[in-house]
Amino acid sequence: MTTPQQAWDEMVRGNERFVAGAPRHPRQDVDRRTELADGQRPHVVLFGCSDSRLAAEIIFDKGLGDLFVVRNAGHVVDPFVIGSLEYAVELLDVPLLVVLAHDSCGAVAAAVESTRPDAEELPTNIWRLISPIVPAARRVKHVDPDVAIDAERVGREHLRDTVTERCTPRTSSPRPWPPAAWASSAASTASARAP
Ligand SMILES: [Zn+2]
Repeated sequence: MTTPQQAWDEMVRGNERFVAGAPRHPRQDVDRRTELADGQRPHVVLFGCSDSRLAAEIIFDKGLGDLFVVRNAGHVVDPFVIGSLEYAVELLDVPLLVVLAHDSCGAVAAAVESTRPDAEELPTNIWRLISPIVPAARRVKHVDPDVAIDAERVGREHLRDTVTERCTPRTSSPRPWPPAAWASSAASTASARAP
């Protein structure tokens, strides 16, 4: 049984290989496909932004069946995301949940832009997507109203929101959220470097 720490250490090692330009591209051969034909046992569920630079298996140098990946623009939590994460944790027994944020995020930039008095109106569904990020932008703006909002700081605030109850829809479930397996999330971006 893989522990959360072991799963995290493997993620860090894979990311280090990627950053060093020495990926091994493990577990991507025919044997691995055959091994996985009857089922999956991923060790990590990764929730991150859809940004094309964050291809999870590539930047963590992982193979088929290693990661259970859930992504949307800006890593915004909604009931479908939570359902997918719960599926991985409760039914696949994934020991580690990683939330992956990144620099230069377009969704965060759109949330920051939306706080300007002269901001243009966004299409409805794009607004729905980024609106959970706007509180993070407003908090950063509130601290320093005379200075241009630091989007990277907003991104870090939004990451914290994502892994705490601030962005978590209220449910009638008696079970606590986040579950115990939601570990190491805030630290994930420090080590997981995108290109
Ligand atoms: Zn992004």
